[in-house]
Order: sequence, then structure tokens, then C-alpha cells
Amino acid sequence: RKNSYSVNIDIKSEAIPLQASIDKYMGIIWKGGAIVNGVKIYGDDVIDDKNRYKMTAPYDRNIEIGSVLFCNKKQIEAATASAYEYQPTWSDKTVLERATYLNKLADLLEQNMPELIALCHKEAGKTIHDSIDEVREAVDFCRYYASQAQEIFKPGQATTGFDDITRQIKRQGKGVFVCISPWNFPLAIFLGQISAALVSGNTVLAKPAEQTSLIASRAMELILESGIPVQAIHLLPGTGVDVGSILTTDIRITGVVFTGSTETAQSINRSLAQRDCKPATLIAETGGQNAMIVDSTALPEQVVRDVLRSAFASAGQRCSALRVLFVQQDIADRVIELIKGAMQELRIGLPYLHSTDVGPVIDKKAKYKLSAHIDEMIKKNKLIAQLPLDDSCEFGDFVPPTAIEISNLSQLKNEQFGPILHVIRYKAGKIDDVVAQINNTGFGLTMGIHSRNEAVYSEIEKCSRVGNCYINRDQVGAVVGVQPFGGQGLSGTGPKAGGPHYLIHFSKQVFVNPSS
Ligand code: GLU
Repeated sequence: RKNSYSVNIDIKSEAIPLQASIDKYMGIIWKGGAIVNGVKIYGDDVIDDKNRYKMTAPYDRNIEIGSVLFCNKKQIEAATASAYEYQPTWSDKTVLERATYLNKLADLLEQNMPELIALCHKEAGKTIHDSIDEVREAVDFCRYYASQAQEIFKPGQATTGFDDITRQIKRQGKGVFVCISPWNFPLAIFLGQISAALVSGNTVLAKPAEQTSLIASRAMELILESGIPVQAIHLLPGTGVDVGSILTTDIRITGVVFTGSTETAQSINRSLAQRDCKPATLIAETGGQNAMIVDSTALPEQVVRDVLRSAFASAGQRCSALRVLFVQQDIADRVIELIKGAMQELRIGLPYLHSTDVGPVIDKKAKYKLSAHIDEMIKKNKLIAQLPLDDSCEFGDFVPPTAIEISNLSQLKNEQFGPILHVIRYKAGKIDDVVAQINNTGFGLTMGIHSRNEAVYSEIEKCSRVGNCYINRDQVGAVVGVQPFGGQGLSGTGPKAGGPHYLIHFSKQVFVNPSS
């Protein structure tokens, strides 16, 4: 199996040959909306529908990029009824047939890479590096789950007993899955959830984040182009309040896959539990208060490189991103000084420029929330560094990468989903205390450790309650099939996306015992 994703993209060899093709799409006005039973419901430009939303670019709100027509209750019902009715037929198809559709979809994603990159720049504000990553990760999810499914769903797993009868254990889809995906990985997580659910024999109702509905609509068009039957998957764009809440209270739903905030996951859990039917599966990947612990044996230069990538890549808009850096007192001054210097080298600006390292945040709401947090933190603490915003940032939703030294973890109440790094010094001999503080947040997504002392990093790894622990490296950008990704505690239910046990949770077992 080809794994196209890589943490170190060579922009020159990847993006430059594509540049002319990407540019062709940069002026396009896209349209999007629901797709139910293969019919696109994108609306008519002339009709002023109250459900139609004008989409603009996060890096310049004067740039219109298209419009989306959010779905209505009638379409939600039509999609749910169709998915429910078709599910047994879909589950009865061979796993090879379902996997073949996903491999075809992966090919289509690669063929349409320039347009998808342009959409990632324009709707999600993603940099060139992140946009390429995004498409490659989506491709990898499709191919990885296609190959995993053929392993997990292979027919003929038999049990033998005291007689000569061959009994069989079969795996089948569970039913209808609702896939609720986030704007920070509008293609990769959107398609990762969908491809896992589909290949396991479930039909899907997909509710993408409203901020990135155009990317979802274009991806859905490619899903249908791959030949997947139109009743197997329906796209229902809209808000969580209008669409998500209807879907998660419907008794025909067997499972929900969700990536987003802890609060929303908890509310989905409550909705599912209140339904008067059998409990549904909830697979949730939520937030974190991710820390990195640096002891005095660490290599400061390496620490700084990994801190910058972990905290500021994708403008800090990753669940996995580093939020709190704990540095041992003995090397804290040196590490902080190096962070300060290295931050001056970062460029924040228009995401489609090759010189840009950090692009905008997703919307005004995020910008105001993050800016308010920075203001509050700066008032009470010591600012280490903050990048200046130049004129190119004037009309966009930019938040400058900011590093602040704070006194203790209790100053941070909520996850701040943006380019903000908090630094805390700790005294020698107090690592246990630091790990306890981190565990006490209740979150458990990623943790970074920098230490050249094996006994130290092994002990931290053993005592910390996180889903993904990264030692002497950065802590973002889990690679599909290589670094299975997912948290514990307030950070999610598991299982890990992109890992060998993921599909099992989308399926059920049936035991067949013929008579003698
Ligand atoms: N899998 C991504 C990473 O390792 C993060 C996914 C997310 O932000 O939800 O960085």
C-alpha cells in the first residue's frame, strides 16, 4: 500500500509543478449544499433563500469564494430514510467491492489535487504545506481503510468444534452512521470518518462543519464520481443546532463519529442516550490541553524546532497542538531565549504564498476568542514573543503567534484552539508533580517529552494518561497507518483513527451455526 503522506513535504517538488494548475482555481466561485440520493441541492442564485450563506476567505473577508445552501428538515428526513433502507444491501456487498470504491476515490482526490488545494487555501485558510498534507492525508485514510477492511472483513473465519460442522463468524456493518466532522481537517477527517464507516458496511449521513461546507460538497461530488451507490451516503450541511441535533435524536441512527469540542461530544452522548431504542456507538475525538515536558538533559535547539511546529503549525488549530510547555528551571532561560529568536523567523500572512508559515484562523469568532485570551494572559503574565501582523493581514481573521510565560497550569481553564503557546518553568525533581498536574486536567490527547535520559522519558510516558505520546520530536501530524491517533479522558472515546483497530468499532459480529 502506498502511503503518500509525509511530515516533511518538499514544497518545491510538490507544490511548484502544481502551482499553475492551483492558480487556475483561485478565482473560482464554488457552490455547495446538500446531496441526497445523488441529487445536488445547491439552490438557485436568483432565489434569495434564508438558508443560503455567502462564503468568504478567512485571509480576506472581502473575497467571496462561493455560497452554500444549508439543508432543511425535509432533506434530512429523505436522506435518513434512504440510508436506513439501503444499509442491509450495502452491508451485503463484498468487502472488496466497498474497498474498490475507496481506492477509486483516493485516485480521484489525487487527480483533483490542484482544485482541492485551492479550496483549502480559500475556504479553510490553509497554507501550501497544510493544504498538500490535507489532500494526502485524505488519500491515505481511503487507501488505509480499504486495505484494513479487507483484512478485518475477510469471509470464512470459522470455528471448529466437537463435530464436523463449520461455524462461521462474520463481520457486518452496524447500521446508519452520522459523521460530524470539523473545519480544521475539512477533507482528511471528513473523508476519514466517512470512508471508515462506509467500508465497514454502514450507510452514512455526513454533517460537515458549516465553515467548510464547500470543501465537503466538492469532496462529496468526488465520492459519487467514484461510483459509491447514491443511497449509501448523503451530505447534509448546516449547523449543529439545526442538523446535528435532528440526526442524533433519530432512532434509526446506529452510530455517530464526531471530531470537535468536548462539550459537543458530551451533548451528542446525552442525545443518543435519551433515545428510546438500543444504545448507539459514539466515537468521539475531542480537545486537549496538550503539554510538552522538557528536562535539563534535552537539546535546546531540537526542543525549539519541535515546539514551534507543535504550537504554531496550522495556526495552532489542531487538536494535537502543543498548548503548555513545561521547561525545567536549569535550561528554561536558554530555551525561552531560543524560542523568542526562532519566532522572529516565522512569517504570518496570506496562506497561498510560499513564504507563509502561519495563515489565518478559521473565523471572526475564533479570532476574538483567542485575542481576548491573549490580552487577558498578557495582563497578568510575561510576554515572551508575539509576531507583528503586516498590512496583508488587514482584512482577514489573523491571530499573531504568541508565546507567554505563565506561573501555573491552573491559569488555563479551557483549550485555546489557536497559535498561543504557554510556558511554565518547573523545578528539578518535580517532574512527578508536573505529570500529575497535566493528568488532573482530565484531558489526554497528546504529550511531548524532550529528554536524553531514557529512565526519565520512560517514567513520564508510563505515568501520563494521554492517547499519543511523542518522545524527542514534535507532537502533531500523526501519519495514517503509522501513528494511530486518538485520546482518552475528556479528549475522546478512542479507538484510534488511522490505526488497525478502528474499523472493528464500526462493525458487529454475526455467528452462523448450521445444523448437522
Ligand atoms: N491528527 C492530527 C494531528 O496529529 C490532529 C487531528 C485534529 O486536530 O483533530 O495533528
